[in-house]
Amino acid sequence: MSGFIPQEIINQIIEQTDIVPIVEQYVKLSKKSSVNYFGLCPFHSETKPSFSVSPGKQIFYCFSCQRGGNVIKFIQDIENVSFPDAVRILAEKANIEIPTDDRKIYEHNQTERKIQQNLHLEAARFYYNSLNKSSNRHVKRYMTERGFSGKTLIAFGIGYADSEWDSLVIHLRNAGFNDEQILASGIIRKSSRNNLIDLFRDRVMIPIFPSHGRYIIGFGGRAVNDADEPKYINSPENILYHKGENLFALNLVRKLRPLPESLILTEGYMDVMALYQSGFHNTIASLGTALTENQARLIDRYAKKLILAYDSDQAGINAALRAIEILEKFNVEIYVLDLGDAKDPDNYIKKYGKARFQALLNEAPSALDFQIKIARIKSTDHNGYLNLNQYTAEVAELLAKLDSAVMIELYAKRLSEEINVASSTIIYDVNRIKQSNTKANSEQVEQKFSQNLSEYGSKSIVSREYKQVVQIDQKKYVRDQWLILAILASSPELFDLIKDRFKPDLFSNRALKTLADKIIQAAQKNQLSVQNLVFWTDDLSHDLENINYTKQLMPVLMALEAEDIRSDQELLFDVLQKLEQYAMQVRQAEILEAVKDKHISSEQRRILIEELSVINKNINYPKRNT
Ligand SMILES: [Zn+2]
Repeated sequence: MSGFIPQEIINQIIEQTDIVPIVEQYVKLSKKSSVNYFGLCPFHSETKPSFSVSPGKQIFYCFSCQRGGNVIKFIQDIENVSFPDAVRILAEKANIEIPTDDRKIYEHNQTERKIQQNLHLEAARFYYNSLNKSSNRHVKRYMTERGFSGKTLIAFGIGYADSEWDSLVIHLRNAGFNDEQILASGIIRKSSRNNLIDLFRDRVMIPIFPSHGRYIIGFGGRAVNDADEPKYINSPENILYHKGENLFALNLVRKLRPLPESLILTEGYMDVMALYQSGFHNTIASLGTALTENQARLIDRYAKKLILAYDSDQAGINAALRAIEILEKFNVEIYVLDLGDAKDPDNYIKKYGKARFQALLNEAPSALDFQIKIARIKSTDHNGYLNLNQYTAEVAELLAKLDSAVMIELYAKRLSEEINVASSTIIYDVNRIKQSNTKANSEQVEQKFSQNLSEYGSKSIVSREYKQVVQIDQKKYVRDQWLILAILASSPELFDLIKDRFKPDLFSNRALKTLADKIIQAAQKNQLSVQNLVFWTDDLSHDLENINYTKQLMPVLMALEAEDIRSDQELLFDVLQKLEQYAMQVRQAEILEAVKDKHISSEQRRILIEELSVINKNINYPKRNT
């Protein structure tokens, strides 16, 4: 995770950096509680502060959007940079030198980046001036005919690449860039005769910014002549630009105050510009590719709601269905605009005006409604005959993804009225699919449980009892496990008091066991700290993408600070005892299941029963603390 920056340097940076003034460069903080600072979260739109910073633990956490971590994570998230880049930003602020070798690579990289930033800025200026030349009046006229005002062209930094083969090459050389640098930009290429030539010719040029908007990373070029193919060309990747990681116009959205709750996602540059000009400043586009997971993550970070405003043709519908599949994995609510007879959002506004478009946004159907509508179209043949079996099967499949029984019932009722089938039949189908989905899912879970059990050193059978026992206090159990890790990391001096009882076996899954193990090792080396725990947890969250362990740890760490009723020491013993009880319950259930197995030898059975009686003596029935 740390790339090529040594861990000691990272630790040093964290030690010498105070998170509070760093955060204050972006967020206005006030001290509401005795220990923590609060402010309006910079990562989601809110009116009541739920974003907190702990100076004691040097961490931040938003109780609302659950983003949290240490100062490096904060810089990563707010500046949208990689871990090593965040470390470098903080190193600079703290005046810490990154060791020579790494610094050389870093500095070389930084120089290259700086050159490309300057080169792209120079190219953008060149294109911009070119658009405003009287000889290129026809291009401006073309943009005016498409409905764009001069103000909009300026807001997006629009320019023009003329039809010469090498005007930009000549301009860049005159500006002092060498051929290697010019080629590295990707917007200039080599001809078959080894001459440098412009990639974009006779095209309207649209600069692409990263979300922080501080420099240009590439361009999109739209053919002026509608007959020219392809209609759009984009910059290839370069040291600044990585496909699928940026969203067009997100830099403009980020400047809005307050941050909008919803974003409109369109297919292309021109849609964004048209909607922007009509006052819909919360519009973005996915930059020439199908929506990627990274882009979906960005959207999820900036908005609560996303409204898909793709073209109404078949390609647009397919793209919308694919985008829904990707966005479904995130929390953002998804809606799909129904443009009716208009071919794209721009066309709709031109036909019906801004007010009706706003109304259309307000009443945009949910992604599910859209998917059901498409299922119906797909199930209808060209004679208008609806294949009921196919249609109900597809809708049932969609409904089975819903968690809420009420929603399933509502949709089933609607479908039953539509096709005249009893809604109970539909619900039956949905539940059947749900069951087989859960079965597939629970088989995976059981596999994981078996793994955990074999780590306990026993025969790996997963019993119903076992799962019941674990489920009884699952939430509390998980929280308690995080709590003990958090206490030990915050008060390392307490470790010695429990070192004989603290074992990875007390923890219920591989991730927590790993952390427990790391705690033990760090305690031996005197390296136990909140910062290290945050790091390890973050690392685990990266290894196992599906589970964000940081989200589980942060609220516990934050709460610990406020817990002043009992001393940490008291709390520690209390939690440790609970964990021991949990572990015994788990083992108890395991043994009960194992002895049922007819294939075990009588000797094995005897050992298990002996172990069980020891547990029964030690376990508290009923538990004292509940
Ligand atoms: Zn937040």
